[in-house]
Amino acid sequence: MNTKTRLPDFSRYRIDFPLLQETNRGKPVIYLDSAASAQKPRQVIDAMADFYVRDYANIHRGIYELSERATRMYEETRETVRRYIHAAHKEEIVFVRGTTEGINLVAQSFGRSQWQQGDEVILSTMEHHSNIVPWYLLKEQIGVVLKVIPVTDSGAVDLEEYKKLFSPRTKMVAITHASNVLGTINPVKEITAFAHSMNVPVLVDGAQAAPHMPVDVQEIDCDFYVFSGHKIYGPTGIGVLYGKKALLDAMPPYQGGGDMIETVAFSKVTFAKTPQKFEAGTPDIAGVIGLGAAIRYMQAIGMENIYAHEQSLLHYAEPKLLAVPGLRLIGTATPKVGVISFVMDSIHPHDIGTVLDHEGVAVRAGHHCAMPLMERFNVPATVRASFGIYTNENDVDALFEAILLAKRLFA
Ligand code: PMP
Repeated sequence: MNTKTRLPDFSRYRIDFPLLQETNRGKPVIYLDSAASAQKPRQVIDAMADFYVRDYANIHRGIYELSERATRMYEETRETVRRYIHAAHKEEIVFVRGTTEGINLVAQSFGRSQWQQGDEVILSTMEHHSNIVPWYLLKEQIGVVLKVIPVTDSGAVDLEEYKKLFSPRTKMVAITHASNVLGTINPVKEITAFAHSMNVPVLVDGAQAAPHMPVDVQEIDCDFYVFSGHKIYGPTGIGVLYGKKALLDAMPPYQGGGDMIETVAFSKVTFAKTPQKFEAGTPDIAGVIGLGAAIRYMQAIGMENIYAHEQSLLHYAEPKLLAVPGLRLIGTATPKVGVISFVMDSIHPHDIGTVLDHEGVAVRAGHHCAMPLMERFNVPATVRASFGIYTNENDVDALFEAILLAKRLFA
């Protein structure tokens, strides 16, 4: 990725985020939990409020101007998303509630409709529960077997072991683009190329990649890609499932209801085409509008610039934290997104989290919905600091000072 061009001054973006102008425990907000959910810029909040104030109506149904306008805005956002992840067709963009729903949709519609007992799905040890449990449900429902790619000590997927997991029964590889705990960016293009050489489709969980770096689904060549609006500075309750058109066309609907049908009789229902076939019921219309605003906001800054900004913060933060005696980073593989997980000798991560909270520093302490990964690294939990567009060195300094305080308190 080209990071040589001069970076814009990111301090001017921080003021776009109203919440960061508030106080937390009487101190300026130090928000280091963007991996859980990103704060929202005024542009996204305004786009949603404006939509409710000026353009609101249900979509795809009304024959009146307001509904047509809302429909146009909704469908234009599909095109915005297509361009954002460089999909070939806008019909390949399905609006869902988030990453979790996108993966469940693929497991139930693509998987359950055609797999048999003993068919296999390859996952990795670093998957979020959202990319484990939907496949585990298929294990319970139809006897699918889960195979797991090990993770190295530095926090990378073991590609040699990955290749050994394939068998004639392998039906899917489902892997995260970037780990929400380790930060590791997986080589999803190579992973996909190998799976395709074995005639196996690939789903990429992009929840932690889409906020931080350019994503090109045609270059990766993955069959499915999923991400959540709330992690890319958009609203909660909206996300995207990308699927190659031929696959989506062949998949049965996931949910039934209004808007996903062509004709309905009690004896026979015919379904709408992709992607409407997968968007049953009134969707989160304002959520889609907010998602579009979030993507435009990020694109105005530039995804390459966002990546470079967070890399420079990583380079600032990691040596600083490593200088704290007894602090150990979990996840040192490169490249990685702006996520730093750590543990400290003889202080439980939850205790560190509590001290940090009292200092007004918002981080996540826990298993981060990645229990198998905690087991792999033999830790009960980690403390995780994660970055976004608005994060600056001052946030990292505040984190550092609060860690030193925790160390003094628990020494
Ligand atoms: N996958 C990864 C890698 C994640 O980090 C998350 C959210 N923490 C999810 C999936 C689930 O996303 P959501 O809760 O928005 O569906």
